[in-house]
Amino acid sequence: MSRIEAAYEESDKRLYFVPCPTCREFQVLKFPQLRWPKGGPEEAVYVCAHCGQEIHNHQKQWMLPRGAWRATAKGDGKTAGFHLSSLYSPVGWFSWGEAAMQFEQAQKNPSLLQVFVNTVLGDTWTLLGEAPDWKKLYDRREATTLDRVHAAMLLQAGGRANALRSMLKSETERSPDFLRLANALSALYPKESEEKRLLDAMLLSAPR
Ligand SMILES: [Zn+2]
Repeated sequence: MSRIEAAYEESDKRLYFVPCPTCREFQVLKFPQLRWPKGGPEEAVYVCAHCGQEIHNHQKQWMLPRGAWRATAKGDGKTAGFHLSSLYSPVGWFSWGEAAMQFEQAQKNPSLLQVFVNTVLGDTWTLLGEAPDWKKLYDRREATTLDRVHAAMLLQAGGRANALRSMLKSETERSPDFLRLANALSALYPKESEEKRLLDAMLLSAPR
């Protein structure tokens, strides 16, 4: 278990609850609720855990801004922990169909299972609290994608334009995950929040 994982275990474990477009009940998006026709993972839909209605990927556009973070554990009373899976990626980014496709590929080729677990289910949470030193975070070999997004936000906050530009360049060359997650977070942070302002400003410096 990494240090961040251990700290998350002691936190209040906040999850992002979103409303169903049909019954308006709130739920946390979970991979087992995806359904797709045999051989057609790209057509995956989400089945509401409350009313059983099918939710289509494009409906996330309505759901995500109406969601809310809720604590799901008592924790140690001082650590706020946030977890988000890629099922929350905004429309136009990583879709439910792509998640289902990765799952099917992992069934055929077990060596891809870890890729599925990392990109679809995990690797997308961190802790709020004191801002970590960006350089240490970035240099840490096990830094998650979210750690790296936060490191970029700290560079943006510190006005370190050159360092930010070179980081964004290497991140976008490395994989689409970084921008995917940064955009997902931008959609989830409240409109007037400092986090959203930093993310959006940081995304403007990203090469396209
Ligand atoms: Zn429902």
